[in-house]
Amino acid sequence: PENEDIQTIEFNNVYFKYPGTNEYILKGISFKIEKGKHYAIVGKNGSGKTTITKLLLRLYQVNRGEILINGKNISDYSIEKIHSFFSVVYQDYAKYAISVKENIGIGNLNYQTEARIKEVVEAVGLKSVIEDLPEGYNTPLGKVLKNGVDLSGGQWQRIALARTLMRENTLKILDEPTASLDPIQESNLYKNYGKIAKDSTTIFISHRLGSTKLADIILLIDDGKILSSGSHEELMREQGLYREMFCKQKEWYDEK
Ligand code: ADP
Repeated sequence: PENEDIQTIEFNNVYFKYPGTNEYILKGISFKIEKGKHYAIVGKNGSGKTTITKLLLRLYQVNRGEILINGKNISDYSIEKIHSFFSVVYQDYAKYAISVKENIGIGNLNYQTEARIKEVVEAVGLKSVIEDLPEGYNTPLGKVLKNGVDLSGGQWQRIALARTLMRENTLKILDEPTASLDPIQESNLYKNYGKIAKDSTTIFISHRLGSTKLADIILLIDDGKILSSGSHEELMREQGLYREMFCKQKEWYDEK
């Protein structure tokens, strides 16, 4: 069907090493993603989180095991189809030298209604910033354009997040696009993002655990394996790595 969207994703015992290297980065990963739920993939830097998203976007092929989308092997879809399934934002998101409106609307060329743009801008906390720009939503962004206004790192990140919200039927992957924000700003942003993306499936990746409480299911990755999965409360009860990371980071979130 034309507008097929993702009902399920399954990783079945996936092993992966980057081409030209010998070390497995993913070592037998299995999990299932279901439509409409919010997932967080957490773990230390280098544990393999981003690699999982690269396999989902089929930038690489698995060495062993399989990835199924709606029950069908990921290699049996066209690349265009794969791209149509996902809205992704990485840390090194794109900054386009075009207007605010176009920067956000690029997320959905078929559906650039003003109302939707305003809604997503509000969700990412940019409403007042944009309204204060010389030409509002029509202000050109970036320094290369005449009259262009450059935004701060954190504001650009919010633009990139807004872009993913424009297409409603996609599965959203947020791979630490909030690195320029402090942990509390990140956690507030994800809260609002989650409200507007409530019916969309989302996977967000972080080594900061303040926002993982918002996820229905947390996948804890360590050294290329899934160490544990469950809700925040379940993982806290296990007295393992998740709890340890959470307690270490707790001071980032305490009211000063
Ligand atoms: P995380 O997202 O958890 O920080 P990554 O998935 O980015 O971790 O990386 C996992 C491991 O894979 C790291 O050791 C990293 O150095 C290695 N890696 C990432 N990209 C490549 C690549 N293109 N070629 C070889 N090794 C890579």
